[in-house]
Order: sequence, then structure tokens, then C-alpha cells
Amino acid sequence: RRAALRKLLGEPTLSSDGHHVELAANIGSVEDLQKVLANGAEGIGLFRTEFLYMGRSSLPSEEEQFQVYKHVLERMDNKPVVIRTLDIGGDKELPYMKLPTESNPFLGLRAVRLCLSQKDLFRTQLRALLRASSYGQLKIMFPMIAVMDELLAAKQLLQEEKEKLVQEGIQVADNIEVGIMIEVPAAALAADFLAKEADFFSIGTNDLIQYTMAADRMNETVSYLYQPCHPSILRLIQMVIQAAKKEGKWVGMCGEMAGDEVAIPILLGMGLHEFSMSAGSILPARALIKETSQQEWAGYTQQILAMSSQAQIKQFVEHKTRSDL
Ligand code: PEP
Ligand code: MG
Repeated sequence: RRAALRKLLGEPTLSSDGHHVELAANIGSVEDLQKVLANGAEGIGLFRTEFLYMGRSSLPSEEEQFQVYKHVLERMDNKPVVIRTLDIGGDKELPYMKLPTESNPFLGLRAVRLCLSQKDLFRTQLRALLRASSYGQLKIMFPMIAVMDELLAAKQLLQEEKEKLVQEGIQVADNIEVGIMIEVPAAALAADFLAKEADFFSIGTNDLIQYTMAADRMNETVSYLYQPCHPSILRLIQMVIQAAKKEGKWVGMCGEMAGDEVAIPILLGMGLHEFSMSAGSILPARALIKETSQQEWAGYTQQILAMSSQAQIKQFVEHKTRSDL
């Protein structure tokens, strides 16, 4: 099986009926790049930059960040690289920032909320990203967007930093796509509005499931509620994909669900454009997609969305994929 998978290394990801999707990798540091390249990723769909800020005693400087982003872009050799701005808060803390303790950290000052409240910290990261943009195909992504005003405020800061850099004579790419994670139910439900202002969406199912089910993603005692293929989740995902398509924008997924063998045929059928996952899942996902017809699964979408439980949906997928083989 490993030999069969290795044959798919340099191949584009095509379904059995010739529909192309992009299989990208999630990374947390430059050390992950080796594995990404060895597994034939078509790009980076999520660079979790918070790891640059963690396990140290002070904030990383603009120059330090610039070097890291530039390195990742260069190693990816002009393949798309989605870099997510700082997603700290929730379960990820920065002791040196001394933020007030919150009784519900996952519902508190997290990610883009924190960045918009600490603008200097945010501007530093945006400048580092903009400076790196001329070394590859950079796409910038904001995490935890809940409402349009957050997206507009973040884009405004990005624009301001870009203008400053240009005035300083520093080269900045002029085609940088700016997208958002869809991981808050409010954003999924308002995806039609957000799609007008975002260049792309990436669905963060780890948080989207947590917030939709109101079940802490780390809490074992409620893990039975963590159901990626529950109709509530699939309906939100379908809405998000439709909203993006209506505005001509692309939509990916970077939560764990993107590498789930039961979810993949459903997502392919719904028309997801990009799947981003841990490097080790890429070749198995490519093999699965190769055996799956996009058209056939598009035809099942309405039927699946009318099913009332994850168990029923899983059974349907398992039955269909087995009969395809
Ligand atoms: C997600 O929420 O699905 C996601 C990809 O982001 P993280 O796991 O870093 O919160
Ligand atoms: Mg998340």
C-alpha cells in the first residue's frame, strides 16, 4: 500500500471524473516543511503562527517573523501558502503577555479579537507578512472572525501597513489574497456577507464543531458531541461553500475533518476546493479522491443533508464507498 501511495506523490489530486481539488498541509513551524514536501502537498493551507510566539519569554520581532515567513514561502517554491495571523488565547497562552484571566477563555479575547485589541502586536506581524510576500505565493488568513467589522478592521490595518512599506520603498506583492477562517457559527451563518469582503474561506472545523455543539474540544466527557458529520455541521459547511461560490471565491477546510475518510467524499460532492491536513494524511486522501466521483457525490448532497444523524450519514458513506470499490 505504501508503494501504491508513493506513486501519487507528484500527481495532481483528481477525482475519478477528473475534477481537481487542492490537497494542502497544515504546519506549525519550519521543521514541518520536510514532511510536507515528502508527502506531495500542493501547498500550505494553514500555517499556525502562534507557535512562533510560544515557548519563549518575549514577543518575536518583525525581523525574526519575516525570516520565518520568507523561508516557508521560498521552500514552497511558489505553491500557495496560507499563513494565519496569531491565534492565541483559548487554550494557548503567552505567559509574558500577562493577559487578564477569563472564566471562559474559548469565548474570550482570542485570536483576531486579541490582535485588534493589541494593535502594535498585530501590526508587527502584518508588516513581517507583507515584507515576505514577494518571496512566494502568500495568502493571509484571519482566525476567529465572528462579524464583518472584525474583517474590515483587520483589512484596514493590513492596508495601512502596506502603504507604509511601499512608501519606505520595500517591495510588497500586490496580489496577496486575504481570507478568513470560518470557525464561529455566526460567521458560517453570515458567510454570504463575508464572502463579499474575503478573498477566500477556510473552514476550521475543530472550533466550528466545538462552538456549534457547545462542547469543549478538549473535554473527554462531552466528546460524544464532537461529530464532524452531524447534520448541523454539514448544513453549515454546505452554506459556507455555497456562499463562497456565489461570490466566485474559493473555499477550503483546515480542521481535522478535512482528512477524515468519511467526510472527504461528502465535501468533494459539496464542491470544496481545498483540503488542508497533516502531511501524513495527504497521500491516503489523494488515493481516496482518485477513486471518488465528484459528480456522483454532488448528486448525494441533498439526500445526505436530509438525514437526521451522524450515524445514518456515516453508514450511507461507508455503504457507497464500499460498493464503489
Ligand atoms: C480549527 O479550528 O479547525 C483550526 C484549524 O484551527 P485550530 O485547530 O488551530 O484552532
Ligand atoms: Mg481554530
